[in-house]
Amino acid sequence: MKTSLQKIVKSRRVVIKVGTSLLSDSKMNLDRKSLSSVVENVLVARKMGKSAVLVTSGAVGAGMGKLGLKTRPKTSLEKQICAAVGQSLLMHEYERIFSESGVVTAQVLLTRNDIEDRRKHQNVRKVIEGLLEKNVLPIVNENDVVADDEIKFGDNDTLSGLVAEIIDAESLIILTDVDGLYDSIESKKIIPVVADIDSRLYEIAGGAGGENSVGGMITKLKVAEKMTRAGRITVIASGKRSDAVKKILSGENVGTLFLPSKKRIEARKRWIADQLISRGKIIVDAGAANALKNRGGSLLPKGIKGVSGSFVAGSPVEIVDESDLKIAQGLSAYSSRELGRIKGIRSDKIESVLGYTRGEEAIHRDNLVVFK
Ligand code: GLU
Repeated sequence: MKTSLQKIVKSRRVVIKVGTSLLSDSKMNLDRKSLSSVVENVLVARKMGKSAVLVTSGAVGAGMGKLGLKTRPKTSLEKQICAAVGQSLLMHEYERIFSESGVVTAQVLLTRNDIEDRRKHQNVRKVIEGLLEKNVLPIVNENDVVADDEIKFGDNDTLSGLVAEIIDAESLIILTDVDGLYDSIESKKIIPVVADIDSRLYEIAGGAGGENSVGGMITKLKVAEKMTRAGRITVIASGKRSDAVKKILSGENVGTLFLPSKKRIEARKRWIADQLISRGKIIVDAGAANALKNRGGSLLPKGIKGVSGSFVAGSPVEIVDESDLKIAQGLSAYSSRELGRIKGIRSDKIESVLGYTRGEEAIHRDNLVVFK
C-alpha cells in the first residue's frame, strides 16, 4: 500500500478521466462550476510536474443541453448529432478556462480503429507525446461523430485505460460524481484500497450509473483490472473536490485506490486481451477449459465444440466455456470456416480434413490470455 502511494507520487504521467455526470447540470448544460473544479485538478497535476492527459466525456451531454433534449438519445445517429454539437462547446469551455492559466489545450478525438492497428497506435502515441513535450494539454474524447457501434470504445472509462496504456502512464485517476467505490449502497462507506479485484467486488459495484452516464462502476472496475494487470495504479475519486488530484498525487488515500497486481501480464498479451476487439467466439468443452485455465495449455481443435462469428485467420477471438462464460481471449491461427471443419478432431488429422495445416494449435498459448 505504502509503495503504491509512493508510486503514484512518483508517476511521471497521469491520465485524468472525467465523466458526463460530473460535467453536466440537471438540464444537461455544461456545469461551469464542476468544469472549473476539473480544470483545477488538472492544473495541479501539471504544477506538480506530471505530464497530464485529460480524457473527458460530456460531448453528447452538452449537445443534448444545447438542443434541448431531456433524455439521452437512443439511436446512434441522434447521439452523433448531439456529440457534433457538444464536442465544440466542451472544447470551447476547456480552452477558455485553461487559457486563463496560460495552458494551451489540444483536442484529440479517437476511435477504436485509430489504435487497433499497431502502426496507427504508435502514431497516436507520438502525437500525444509530442503535445506533452510542448507542454500542451491533450484533451481526449471518443470521436463520437464518426464512431458507429462497430468501432466504438463505448465509454470513456475504457478509453482512458487505453490511453494510459498507449502513453505508458503509471496512473489513472477517474474523477466521478461519487466519492469512490462504496462497500454497499446502504452504508455508503468507501472502500479505500483494493488489492484484488474479484467477483465479490463486481457484485458490490452493481449496475450502471445514472441514466445519463455511460460507464458505471462495473466498467470502471474492468478498467482498473486491466490497469492493475499492467502494474499501473487506478484511483476512483470525486471530481467535485477541486483538491482531489492534489491529495492523490501527494500520497493521500482519497477515494478508492486499486493496487497494481502481482500477476502482471506482458505488454503483448495485454494488447491481445485488452485492446483488440474480438471478431468471434470459440466455444470449448470442459476438458479444454480446464487445460486452458489450470495447465497453461494451448487451445487444440479437439476441445472446440462450436464457433460463432465470421473471422479470418489471425483474428482476435473470445474463448468461452459451454455456459458462455468468457475464459480467454487469443489470436486464432485458423479462420472461423476452417475451425468449423476441424473442431473436435485430433491435431494430426487437420491436414487430411483441410488439405493443409496452419499448425497443431487452434490458438497457441503464446497468443492466448486466460482470465482467472
Ligand atoms: N464520448 C461520450 C461523450 O463525450 C461519453 C462517453 C462516456 O461518458 O463514457 O459524450
